[in-house]
Amino acid sequence: MSRSEESPPIDFIRQIVAADRLAGKNDGRVVTRFPPEPNGFLHIGHAKSICLNFGVAAENPAGRCNLRFDDTNPLKEEELYIQSIQTDVRWLGFDWEDRLYYASGYFEQLYQLAEQLIEAGHAYVCSLSAEALREYRGTLTQPGRESPYRNRSVADNLDLFRRMRRGEFPDGSHILRAKIDMASPNINMRDPTLYRILHAHHHQTGDQWPIYPTYDYAHCLCDALEGITHSLCTLEFEDHRPLYDWIVDRLQGSLGNHPQQIEFSRLSLEYTVVSKRKLNTLVKSGIVDGWDDPRMPTLSGLRRRGYTPAAIRTFCQRIGISKTPNNVELALLESCLREDLDKQAPRAMAVLNPLRVVITTVPEGQVEALSAANHPQNPEMGLRSLHWSREIFIEREDFCEDPPKQFKRLVPGGEVRLRQAYVIRCDQVVKDPQSGEIVALHCSHDPATLHANPPDRKVKGVIHWVSAAHSHPVEVRSYETLFTVPHPDEAWQGDNFAEWINPNSLTVLTDCRVEESLKDAPPGSIFQFERLGYFCVDSKPTQGIPVFNRTVGLRDTWAKQQQEPKG
Ligand code: ATP
Ligand code: MG
Repeated sequence: MSRSEESPPIDFIRQIVAADRLAGKNDGRVVTRFPPEPNGFLHIGHAKSICLNFGVAAENPAGRCNLRFDDTNPLKEEELYIQSIQTDVRWLGFDWEDRLYYASGYFEQLYQLAEQLIEAGHAYVCSLSAEALREYRGTLTQPGRESPYRNRSVADNLDLFRRMRRGEFPDGSHILRAKIDMASPNINMRDPTLYRILHAHHHQTGDQWPIYPTYDYAHCLCDALEGITHSLCTLEFEDHRPLYDWIVDRLQGSLGNHPQQIEFSRLSLEYTVVSKRKLNTLVKSGIVDGWDDPRMPTLSGLRRRGYTPAAIRTFCQRIGISKTPNNVELALLESCLREDLDKQAPRAMAVLNPLRVVITTVPEGQVEALSAANHPQNPEMGLRSLHWSREIFIEREDFCEDPPKQFKRLVPGGEVRLRQAYVIRCDQVVKDPQSGEIVALHCSHDPATLHANPPDRKVKGVIHWVSAAHSHPVEVRSYETLFTVPHPDEAWQGDNFAEWINPNSLTVLTDCRVEESLKDAPPGSIFQFERLGYFCVDSKPTQGIPVFNRTVGLRDTWAKQQQEPKG
C-alpha cells in the first residue's frame, strides 16, 4: 500500500481498539480476521470489511489479521470460491502471511467442545422434525415451547451425539441444540442448533464428517481458538452477539480467550446489489457474463472493468465505519477511481466511431513521425510516437455539416486542431450517392501549426484522431449500471429482479480504432483515451480483435443527471 494514502479516520471501532490496548486488555494484542464463507466471489461490501480488519491490524504494533474461511456449509461452497477470494484479497493489497485458516480445520476441536457442552448440561440432542422445530420456536411476539427431548440425560445425549458423528442416522433426524431459553425475546437464544446431520462431501474434509456445525456455533469458537481479540462483523449479527458470548462463556475454561464482537453497518452501493445470493442469481440466470463481468460489483468485476486496488481502498476510507446505514452514491466510488487514474493512466488516442478524413495536402505514401507525452503532468512517463499520414480517422460526432451555434469542432469550410498534430480545414464532404451518408471528408492541413497556433489565428476546437494506416482495430464495451433503480436491493423481493434490470447496461462498439502505441497493450492495462474517458484492456482472452472495457468517464455525470430540472 502506498504511504501517500490518507490515514483512516478514527471511527468508533478504532477507538475501542485503542482504548483496549491502553487498558492492557488481551495483553495489548490486536488480532482480527476476515472470515468469508466460500460460497461466492467477494464484492465491494467485502472490501469494506477487508480494509477494516486488515487496516486495524496494520495500524497497531504487532497487530495481525487472519484470513479464515468459515466453511461450515459444504452444499453451497466450492474450491473455485476459495481461490478467487484469496486472489481478490491479495489484489486489494492485503497479506495474511501464513495465517490462512478454515473453520473446517477446527472441526475436531469444535466436536470435542460440543461434547463438553453436553457434559455440562448445556446442550442436548433434539429429534423433532424440521416442521415441529419451527412450530416450537415461537414467533417474535410469542415465546417458544420446550422440546420434549430437552431433558434427555447427559448419557443419552452423549450417546446419540456420538452416533450422529459415526453417521448412524439419516439427514435431518436429529440435531444438537444449545439449552438456553425458549422464552427469550431473542429468537437466536431459543435453544439454537449447534450441529446438524448432513451426509455431504466437504471440499476440505472430504467424507470425514456426516455432521456439520452451524455458522453461529463455529464462528465464535474459531475466533476464540485463533486468539482473535476483536471480532468485527456487520450489523445483522448484532442479535447473534448474546449467543456468541453465551457459547464462548460456557467454554471459557478450554478456550482462555474471549473475543469481543463489534458490529458496523454494511455497505450498499447505489444501482447495484451486494449480496452473494443475488449476485449468484444474476450469474446463473445469464444476465451477466460470470462473476467477473465488468458490470458486477464484485472485486473481480471491478478489476476487469479497470478499477484499481488503490481506488477501492481510498473509497473504503472515505465511506468510513459507523453503525448508521451506509448506502453510498456511485459517484463517490467513481471519483476515487478517477483521482487515481488521472495520476497514473497513460494518455492515448482512440476513435470509437470513425469517419475517414483524407488530408489532401499530404502526398500519398508520406509519413511523418510525431511525438506526444504519455502524461501531461508526468514527464517521467515518457513519450510515444504517432504517425501523421494522408488518411486519418476522426470521431463521427466531431464533424457536423449543419452545426448548431455553439458547435466548436469541425464544420464544412471550418478549422479544428488535431490533438498532438496540426490544424486542418474541411474543404469537401464526400457522400454516398445512394444513401447520402457522409463517407469521408477532404481536408487540408497547415504545416505551420504543429502543436501551436500561429499568432494570427484562433482555432477553438481540439479533436482527437488516429492515423488510418497505423491505428489498430479494437472492440470497445461500454457500460451503464446493471439496475435502473438506485436501491435495487429494496426493489428486488423474491424473484422479481428482471423488472429492474437495465436493458442498456452493455453497448458493444465493434469498429473502433486505437493509436499504434496500444498494439499489444497487456490485459489489465488502463489508458485515458483523450476526451473520452478511461479504458482497460479486457483480461479475458478473445478471439480476434482486442477488447477495451470503458472504465469510467472523465467527469462526474451523476451530478448532472440528478440536478433538479430548471423551471
Ligand atoms: P452476502 O450477504 O453477500 O452473502 P455475507 O455477509 O454472507 O455476505 P461473508 O462471506 O460471510 O458474506 O462475509 C465475510 C465478511 O464480510 C463478514 O464479516 C461480513 O460481515 C462482511 N461483509 C459482507 N458483506 C458486507 C457489506 N456489504 N458491507 C460490509 N461488510 C460486509
Ligand atoms: Mg455471511
